Amino acid sequence: MEAPANQRAVRRHNLGVVLRHVVEQGPRSRATIAQETGLNKSTVSSLVTELIEIGVLVERGTHRTGLVGRPGLVVDVAGSGAAGIGLEVNVDSLTVCATDLARNERHRGLDVADNRDRDPGEVMGRLAALAREALDALRAQGVAPLGITVALPGLVDTAAGVLLLAPNLRWEDLPVARMLMQRIDAPGLDVVIDNEANLAALAELHEGAGRGLQHFVHVSGEVGIGAGVVLDGRLFRGAHGFGGEFGHLTVDPGGTRCACGSHGCLETCAGLEAVLAAAGESGLSDASAADAVAKLAGRAQEGDPATVGALGDAGHWLGIGLACVANLLDPEAIVLGGFLASLAPHLAPAAEAELDARMLGSGHGRPDVLASPLGSAAASRGGAALALHRVLENPGVLGAPEVVT
Ligand SMILES: [Zn+2]
Repeated sequence: MEAPANQRAVRRHNLGVVLRHVVEQGPRSRATIAQETGLNKSTVSSLVTELIEIGVLVERGTHRTGLVGRPGLVVDVAGSGAAGIGLEVNVDSLTVCATDLARNERHRGLDVADNRDRDPGEVMGRLAALAREALDALRAQGVAPLGITVALPGLVDTAAGVLLLAPNLRWEDLPVARMLMQRIDAPGLDVVIDNEANLAALAELHEGAGRGLQHFVHVSGEVGIGAGVVLDGRLFRGAHGFGGEFGHLTVDPGGTRCACGSHGCLETCAGLEAVLAAAGESGLSDASAADAVAKLAGRAQEGDPATVGALGDAGHWLGIGLACVANLLDPEAIVLGGFLASLAPHLAPAAEAELDARMLGSGHGRPDVLASPLGSAAASRGGAALALHRVLENPGVLGAPEVVT
């Protein structure tokens, strides 16, 4: 006979199975859930009742007829029940985004400023203010905030909540999770930090260009360049969680010194500031990244030779880096995100030419180069989704006393 603790663990696991099934497969009857998950009908019925009480599922009538019992009633995700919050720290901006279990965006906010010139404590204060705005907006909509994930442009120790190194921000060994929790002052709210490129790749996997793909690399371009690697449908993090530092691949050994201390890293050739400088534009101190990128796209569209040349060169360097990745991993697709998504029509042809020239298997099929439909929103959406995912894995936490404050 099972011990009560094991029974509780099995029940928590089964709550997750039922909730994930409805989130992924859509509205359906209790009988259908039982049939599809292999759980018995009375168990499903009691699990569904608990999930409705927690506020993450709702029951509503439909014209469809169920197989047996409770005909005409289906169980669906309560879009209004709960939301996750994603925060993102970038070199030139801070972003917040909140999405509910039905993936609807409930709130979005932006704070544009060059964070390289600000004290980390001050930046955390501004980030906490964005988080509090999101919490207020969710509460006003009757939606329960479940957790926060912070996307950071550097090496992150997720378990310790510490940003180890962010060369472009010149930040090192910063306990971001603790600093933020102190400033948000929302006891019981779970704050987790992660690498921005990893979170962006997760967003692509679940709701962007990576949907349905098993193996792809998402390249997020801002001032720095990062990558999230998805293999066998899962994010690949590496031994220390440092995988995907694509921007620091050496593409030009004798090239310019990088913020990381090395020379000729990809981001010194194809990062946003490098592209702006090559196109003869001023840097990000005079314009937001979004405005600077829109201006570049406009000039490229008009055929301005300096801009077209700069974007072609960036595509060339990007393609050299991508060919290394493609030879190593054989991905189905490369997804260009961040500013690279907006400028993909002007960058991708040169990158594809390098892939054709340098990838051994290119004659037998090379990865498609796709523009992300999520663009610069990917990391914050991925963060919000990951906060929700923590609940999908263990919905019992919602009703647990430790999170009710
Ligand atoms: Zn570097």
